[in-house]
Amino acid sequence: MTDHGVSRDLSKAVKELKERDLNHRPEKMIFILLLFLTCLGLVIAAITLWLVPFVGFSNIHPHLPVIMAVVFAMVVLFLIGGGLTLVFTIIRGKNLFFNRRIRGVVIRFLFPLLVLVGKCVGISKERVQRSFIAINNQLVVAEARLVQPRKLLILLPQCLQNHDCDVRITGSVENCKACGRCKIKNLVELSHRYHVSIAVATGGTLARKIVVDKRPQMIIGVACERDLTSGIQDTYPLPVYGILNKRPHGPCFDTDVDLGAVERGMAAFLNGDKGNSEGPGPEGVKPAVS
Ligand code: SF4
Repeated sequence: MTDHGVSRDLSKAVKELKERDLNHRPEKMIFILLLFLTCLGLVIAAITLWLVPFVGFSNIHPHLPVIMAVVFAMVVLFLIGGGLTLVFTIIRGKNLFFNRRIRGVVIRFLFPLLVLVGKCVGISKERVQRSFIAINNQLVVAEARLVQPRKLLILLPQCLQNHDCDVRITGSVENCKACGRCKIKNLVELSHRYHVSIAVATGGTLARKIVVDKRPQMIIGVACERDLTSGIQDTYPLPVYGILNKRPHGPCFDTDVDLGAVERGMAAFLNGDKGNSEGPGPEGVKPAVS
């Protein structure tokens, strides 16, 4: 396949990811609602903070009320500007010049605030986490970062493994006997086809160790809301594209994953065969459509 063909496949995969983002409208709306409430709360707090001392400021210095008004107006403008920029990025799905900074602000500061506000208005933590993952994915896609296959890591939870399987896959997924009782077999096949790293973690500590050892530039993580959220926060500034696992038998037991979603993520972030010295890249591999 030509470079032109590979880039057409990549843009098709990115387009599909963006289209699928539209299906996350409810999650995004929750995020925007919580963001609006948080900004409103902060603006009210700023105005209150200004109003209360205002009574006393003029007694200290005649110009102090005006100076404090300018300071607080700047804080309010900064908050509104930041909020509008984020909403614009979410709605348009376009990379803005400080997209990566925005991702940092969302991950580090905004998410804990939104959980708090969500609690106050009766939105469960799990729903806020889901909306956070959807927004994070959109910002990661908007960054449109391409990596070499060996720098892309697929990180899986152990609960994807069939509960009856005795094979130890946490040390090396390659130990999988490919019996087909669980999706580990298919995921290992995908990793071979795309020449990407793949690993299974039993928890946050092992996941962190895998990331330190493998030094990826991009992670596609499969997990539940809680683990994905903490994984995205722990590994920042490393971009993590999160895919929620399916739990037909309840949490942490014989879980499942949409293989098409994993493959689309891989195809969207892979840098074709450029600079891949370990074998052919994902040429000719069309992203699956589930
Ligand atoms: S596919 Fe692999 S991990 Fe899954 S049950 Fe079979 S041997 Fe175990």
